[in-house]
Amino acid sequence: MTKFGPHIDRMTAYCTFCPKMCRFSCPAASAEGRETVTPWGMMRLLELAKDGSVALDDDVADAFFHCTGCRRCQTFCAHDNDVPRALWKARSWVVDSGFLPEAYQEMYQRFEEHQSPWDEAQAQIDDSPFDRDASVAYWPDCSTAAHSPELVGAIGRLLEKVLGEPVRLVRSEEAGRTPCCGFPLSAAGIESPEEIRDKRWPGFEGVHTVWTDCAALAAWNHPSSSWQLDDDDTPQMGHIFELLARRLPKIEPPDNPLDAADCLLHQSCYVTRQIDAKDLVDSIVSQITDTPPDKLAYGDDESPCCGGRVHYQVLEPEASDLASQKVVESLERNEGKERMVTTSSMCHHAMDEASEQDVVESLLRWVCEAYEVIS
Ligand code: SF4
Ligand code: SF4
Repeated sequence: MTKFGPHIDRMTAYCTFCPKMCRFSCPAASAEGRETVTPWGMMRLLELAKDGSVALDDDVADAFFHCTGCRRCQTFCAHDNDVPRALWKARSWVVDSGFLPEAYQEMYQRFEEHQSPWDEAQAQIDDSPFDRDASVAYWPDCSTAAHSPELVGAIGRLLEKVLGEPVRLVRSEEAGRTPCCGFPLSAAGIESPEEIRDKRWPGFEGVHTVWTDCAALAAWNHPSSSWQLDDDDTPQMGHIFELLARRLPKIEPPDNPLDAADCLLHQSCYVTRQIDAKDLVDSIVSQITDTPPDKLAYGDDESPCCGGRVHYQVLEPEASDLASQKVVESLERNEGKERMVTTSSMCHHAMDEASEQDVVESLLRWVCEAYEVIS
């Protein structure tokens, strides 16, 4: 047994002797076109590196970072291998051994300066719907706060509508903004979730529950995700979809449900496979539409990854764009479909930027529109 433990040892052994059954499913392998960054390639290299058969150097270490964490390979794996779980561990090992890809140094600096992976200044957020003393809080996805700041206040109003009371907005007084949860740092092997919580999270005095639209933060608190936060002290945290699926059927339905007949639903990989929320999404969609969007040809557990996770975008911007473009191009193969709605703010931003066509929309915005909490 190596320091990686029997679970990961077993996974790398399975991959080593596998005929690469999952190869086609990997967004990074497909966009980069390199055998080294297939799930098989990364896991085989880990098998060799962890027992010392291959010495760590910059190239070997770099290979372990080319996984978005989408878990799509796991869907097609007869052994149910959780490849991101193994590769995240490999990343902290190589970073501890002194190998940090250069692209991540800049991202780390941005976190040190303003608690966010995005370099732009945070746009003005309407914090009027929020109550600083509320015991339930909303922690916005950093992509929502950076790229759709008008949605933050609308989500605050939506939460008030379904809960019957205003919620608190999670803010870092030190950074003067709603901070990123820090997931990109752990995905880059730089800090563990526990280190991030202790060093970077704001205080939660008086808060018992935090709702977020960040699937990565929700995944840290989900029992079957690839990575968990070892934590009993912070408030209970969950994805907003959990709350909406439960509460929307209990409030007045929208006066004007949306017609999504011309739309395809992109099921974000973290929402679908890390926090297992696809049924929650279906339930929310059924509440706000009279004609729901169709799913992609590969739907539900097979849904494609857009490559838009920050840690992958920072490392391989062109491949990340290519992966996003491939998902948006599904519209061309589906007659009568002109728009795509996605379940993640990060996917929305990545696909919107990469496609440059203004055809990608956000499911949370749809919910806000249907319940008329956004102007
Ligand atoms: S993850 Fe599964 S399907 Fe993919 S290479 Fe490894 S063993 Fe094979
Ligand atoms: S989790 Fe996704 S990105 Fe990572 S190796 Fe598997 S398919 Fe590729």
